Amino acid sequence: MSQAYTQDLPARLAVNKYETDDENSHIIVDQQAIDEEGVAELLIRICPAHVYSRNPDGTLAVEYAACLECGTCLALGRGAVSWHYPEGGMGISYREG
Ligand code: SF4
Repeated sequence: MSQAYTQDLPARLAVNKYETDDENSHIIVDQQAIDEEGVAELLIRICPAHVYSRNPDGTLAVEYAACLECGTCLALGRGAVSWHYPEGGMGISYREG
């Protein structure tokens, strides 16, 4: 049985819970590889959580606390992105599991 969603996406995502690991980022980007592979704009465009953006100096910024753990950036990052699940208990907890 399908469920009709009446709220927009940001409102639905807001009911999930995040435990932020302020000490350890689970996403590391190799800025040189990002430039060499030309994947910065791709990462900015494909991340559903808008984790990636440009710093004023042109390097790639990573707001890892917002990550939805979908793995898309790891799959498309051409080796410039090092990604693993957050340490135990950290990261996102989906409302519906
Ligand atoms: S795993 Fe998904 S949500 Fe997290 S940073 Fe990568 S693309 Fe964005």
